[in-house]
Amino acid sequence: MKNRFFYRGKNRYWIWLVFLVLMVVVGILLADRIGQMQEDYVEKQMAQQTQSMAEVVKERLRAELSSMKVAAHLIEAGAVEDFGKMEDAGVVSGLLALDGTAVYGEALDFSVYEGLRESFRGSETVSCDVEGNLVFSVPVFRGSNIKYVLYRKYLEKELDQFFYLDGYEGQGKLLVASGQQILYADEQWGAEGIKMLRDGKVLETYEKIHTKLNIASSASEKGNFEGESAYFFAAEISRQGLYLIGLVPKKAMEAGISNIVMMVVCVLGLLLILFTVGVRSLFRAEEKVKESEALKEAKLAAEQANRAKSDFLANMSHEIRTPINSVIGMNEMILRETREGNVREYAKNIEYASKSLLSLINDILDFSKIESGKMEIVEGDYELSSFLMNIVNMAEVKAEAKNLSFHAQVDKTLPSVLYGDEVRVRQVIENLLSNAIKYTGEGSVALCVSPLREGAAFALKVSVKDTGIGIRKENLDKLFKDFERLDLHNNRNVEGTGLGLAITKRLTDQMGGRILVESTYGAGSCFTVILPQGVKEARVIGDFKETYQKFIAEHVEEGGNFTAPDAKVLVVDDNAMNLLVVKRLLGRTKVQVTTCQSGEKCLSLMQEEHFDVIFLDHMMPGMDGMETLAKSRELSGNLCANTPVIALTANAIRGAREEYLRAGFHDYLSKPVEPKLLEEMLMKYITKIRTKDDEAKK
Ligand code: ADP
Repeated sequence: MKNRFFYRGKNRYWIWLVFLVLMVVVGILLADRIGQMQEDYVEKQMAQQTQSMAEVVKERLRAELSSMKVAAHLIEAGAVEDFGKMEDAGVVSGLLALDGTAVYGEALDFSVYEGLRESFRGSETVSCDVEGNLVFSVPVFRGSNIKYVLYRKYLEKELDQFFYLDGYEGQGKLLVASGQQILYADEQWGAEGIKMLRDGKVLETYEKIHTKLNIASSASEKGNFEGESAYFFAAEISRQGLYLIGLVPKKAMEAGISNIVMMVVCVLGLLLILFTVGVRSLFRAEEKVKESEALKEAKLAAEQANRAKSDFLANMSHEIRTPINSVIGMNEMILRETREGNVREYAKNIEYASKSLLSLINDILDFSKIESGKMEIVEGDYELSSFLMNIVNMAEVKAEAKNLSFHAQVDKTLPSVLYGDEVRVRQVIENLLSNAIKYTGEGSVALCVSPLREGAAFALKVSVKDTGIGIRKENLDKLFKDFERLDLHNNRNVEGTGLGLAITKRLTDQMGGRILVESTYGAGSCFTVILPQGVKEARVIGDFKETYQKFIAEHVEEGGNFTAPDAKVLVVDDNAMNLLVVKRLLGRTKVQVTTCQSGEKCLSLMQEEHFDVIFLDHMMPGMDGMETLAKSRELSGNLCANTPVIALTANAIRGAREEYLRAGFHDYLSKPVEPKLLEEMLMKYITKIRTKDDEAKK
């Protein structure tokens, strides 16, 4: 891919080549045109300059005629003799009478000097004779009639003063001619040069100039002189046929101009390059737009596929949770009711397997929710000592099962009540602890919880340290990737999906926290999470185990310690097995359980009987739980108008609880139903409970 542009395909290559050829042709035509333009320009310049030089000569001649006019006036006034006898070196002057005789000086032949005749008609003229002498003549009046003509004849060698011009910085040749006769030629010509003027080609060029002079007072034309290109020029000096004529070699004339041509060519070249670069980047930009459009489409398709996957996973896990609910519930009943050792053992295995399955389903559900951006952080107050105690208890049991020692070190200055998403913080810490225990064969696992304070901000710093297998340095980067499991050779027998840390990382990020890892392969790892939390009660926690004991004593009455034979409970679920599970789980509390399998039935039961608590399933065919609840509000003769209704559902999505509370449910219980939670819920909402002590009194 050295030059992507040329490798984009044959088409583009051809376009490029055609463009190049076109540019070359245009360049050649342009160069020709510029040459032509240059010649035209030079010719015009030359004509103008010649015109200026002719004006200089004319001015000199006019000056002479003006002096003669003054003299004519004086003669008219009577000073005939003075002027008639006027003598100048190199100049012959005289006064002619009408009949051609000389009053003073020599008589001149009118037929030779055309100008004299005109002066007798009143004009001031300049003409020449065949010998190359220049004759100025002016009329002398007496009243309104012409009496004489005053003339001055300048001999050939005196003509310099009128015709000498330093034109074209000494590079040009100049002459003054009248018809075929040359009056004056400057030194540049030389004898050979003058002869060359008779050359056919030169005459031809002058012929052309002559034609041009019919419509202009000066003209120029390109031609050849002595084998070289030259610009010829001519301008009229006097109406009596005097012309200023000459030529300048082309080289001398175009020296400055060819630089301009070079410049024009350079600018054009530069433009060509710029144009090329422009077109090229235009093509590139077009490519990029195409690429980015393709990318956008691919991204959209990928996002759609991903959303479809997340939806599928969410739906599947919902569907799977329902039967697991039944399995776990039924199994719980077996465990409660059987005394047979091997049956209990089987049931324990079922319990273990179904709980693993449930945790896997929960992981996938969490993952798909985070993926599709539906995972919400739901914050609330939580009591830190019981929060930590639950975690420590779980870890101790797991560590003990693997013969690992477990230490928990909790900073005594931690606040006792925090504000945050308790469930997600727990999930993060439990994930790290589970991994530490899972990937440690022998030794210990330690949990260390301490506060991080920065101004008013507070964060929980939780470190989980193990003496396990550790992680290779090169694998540290892959740690938080989805479905990535490391060191598979050594971890063959360890259960896992590679989702735990990915979820942990994303949850931590979502809560505005950070996660750090240090590990030595073969020696152990230390995972640290820093989770910003609010402080609800700054009172210090002290020894968390003691605080927990006190908290329990104050707040929690032990589950299983009560019965409620007078209480009536309605359980609504379309799944008969679920109904049986809940009914049997509630059996111990002796509550009176009524069940039904549809929203419609539920509504009619509400009209028949009063219930103390209603457990209402959400997902039911026909009228679902939400609709049933809404309808119950407008139900006439509803005996359960004030009865707490608890949502019972396999919908384990985070934020579901809030959704149900918003819909008007009093509480929320997720399926599979935890027996302990079910009993606690019951105790919370029914007043007709009897404790063991009450029973004893009876
Ligand atoms: P898994 O379900 O495989 O445990 P995780 O995402 O939790 O998935 O972890 C990803 C990988 O990181 C694991 O497969 C394991 O190789 C490695 N790992 C995680 N925690 C530890 C630990 N404490 N000690 C050693 N390796 C670990």
